[in-house]
Amino acid sequence: PRIIHQGQSDKPTVAILGSGWGAISFLQHVDSTKYNVVLISPRNYFLFTPLLPSCPVGTVDEKSIMEPVVSFANKKKGDVTYYEAEATDINPNDKTVTIKSFSNINSISPDSVNVGLQANEVAQIKYDYLITAVGAEPNTFGIPGVEEHGCFLKEIPDSKKIRHKFIEAVEKANLLPKDDPERKRLLTLVVVGGGPTGVETAGELQDYIDQDLKTFMPNIVDEIQIVLIEALPVVLNMFETKLTSYAEKVLRETNIDLKTKTAVGKVESEYLIAKTKKDDGSIEETKIPYGVLVWATGNKPRSLITNLFKKIPEQNQANRGLIVNENLLVNGTNNIFAIGDNAFAKLPPTAQVAHQEAEYLSKVFSKISRIPNFHENLKSSTKPDVLFEENGIKPFKYIHLGSLAYLGAEKAIANITYGSRSFYSGGGIFTFFVWRVLYVSMILSFRSRFKVIADWTKIAFFGRDAFKEL
Ligand code: FAD
Ligand code: NAD
Repeated sequence: PRIIHQGQSDKPTVAILGSGWGAISFLQHVDSTKYNVVLISPRNYFLFTPLLPSCPVGTVDEKSIMEPVVSFANKKKGDVTYYEAEATDINPNDKTVTIKSFSNINSISPDSVNVGLQANEVAQIKYDYLITAVGAEPNTFGIPGVEEHGCFLKEIPDSKKIRHKFIEAVEKANLLPKDDPERKRLLTLVVVGGGPTGVETAGELQDYIDQDLKTFMPNIVDEIQIVLIEALPVVLNMFETKLTSYAEKVLRETNIDLKTKTAVGKVESEYLIAKTKKDDGSIEETKIPYGVLVWATGNKPRSLITNLFKKIPEQNQANRGLIVNENLLVNGTNNIFAIGDNAFAKLPPTAQVAHQEAEYLSKVFSKISRIPNFHENLKSSTKPDVLFEENGIKPFKYIHLGSLAYLGAEKAIANITYGSRSFYSGGGIFTFFVWRVLYVSMILSFRSRFKVIADWTKIAFFGRDAFKEL
């Protein structure tokens, strides 16, 4: 394949992989006049994931939480090039990334050379620095049947798939007599995983049933049952007990059938097999028929990243993500940095972490661009940690600002902190408003912020739009 050297040769080229929290936050903050910036991602928009659970039922419109990469890139000074392409291989020895193009239009910056890759064309992009921020992918733990029959909730197409399947199941059930077991199956929606994705999705679906579907299909809503299955004894286990107990109370009150200490081990097209640990230590196996299955049991690294583990001896022990040093430099390299879910920095895989890592790294890049000969010295350095320290580059320090989760019925839980100091910990309707204000403030663009507020205002007057085919 063609090898592409990007931009002006007097500046180092920084290739960023991804267009999610890590990549876009880095792009927003990096001084792009000091580098040739190349962003590579098959997804041509940033996705504000915290509001993705609101999308399947239309509390928030999908388009409101998508922001084109171009709108971030266009705000930058200097040379920024975007490839709508998937990185298929990272080659640390020759400092290139192999990419497969997704579209015919690749170069968006007016100043940069339009290299004119065709759709599906393979090329290699030469980098001086690489920042991997490709996130992670849903983990099925190898449980048979999940890929074929379950819906994940990670990307926009997942949201559409859940909506389509759910409405289709309700419509099909509506044709059947009340006592038909097939009707009961179709109206059972199972969510596996009581982490924040599973809980928020279950809560949003229940809101839609209680607040909107009731007016369209009053004869059927009372028969719809959401089942939430969690292997651990509690849901949302990153919160303190007071808040998880409150969360469980709200879920049960809103009619969600919560099954804790229950692990799903097998999925068939119309039912799943779950094992529940009873109080006496015995295991009870149950067969749960379902119409729609949402699978939200967390993430695992992408193959692009696990393949890289094998190419760098210092990463041979890696399993959750690229092991990074205190400056987020990938151990065993002196030019690859990893941020967000594809990095293992002993921090949770959250947007908050990815965002702070990206801000930190952009500052590091600004700083090193001002240190004479730093780039050259780093290239030949065998102890990059020492070089960073000698030049006064401080280690990354994560400041935990808290956790928030929506439960449904306009109730949320929140624990707002600054590092180890706690400012607020509570649950209820007030917390729901706190949740909304904080989420809006976290959105990365003004346009998206405006659209989300407009969506919330709209549903308050006219209810949700949850059209099957959109
Ligand atoms: P991502 O944001 O996932 O971005 C990865 C990017 O890489 C994407 O653009 C993708 O298209 C791209 N990519 C994938 N493969 C390739 C490839 N081969 N080549 C190039 N690019 C590639 N965290 C919170 O802190 N608060 C929340 O409220 C919250 N809510 C969430 C709700 C949901 C439903 C989900 C799924 C996650 C939520 N998270 C939340 C977690 C948060 O979204 C992730 O931790 C965060 O997105 C990680 O950022 P990232 O940049 O590592 O990955
Ligand atoms: P998670 O890893 O946080 O939770 C997955 C849950 O699934 C776990 O509680 C696990 O015990 C359970 N599980 C695993 N296998 C199971 C099985 N076979 N049967 C039953 N239960 C099983 O995953 P998530 O909720 O997708 O979150 C991923 C990351 O994104 C986390 O870091 C989370 O904090 C973050 N996130 C945050 C928010 C928020 O802050 N509101 C929302 C969504 C996601």
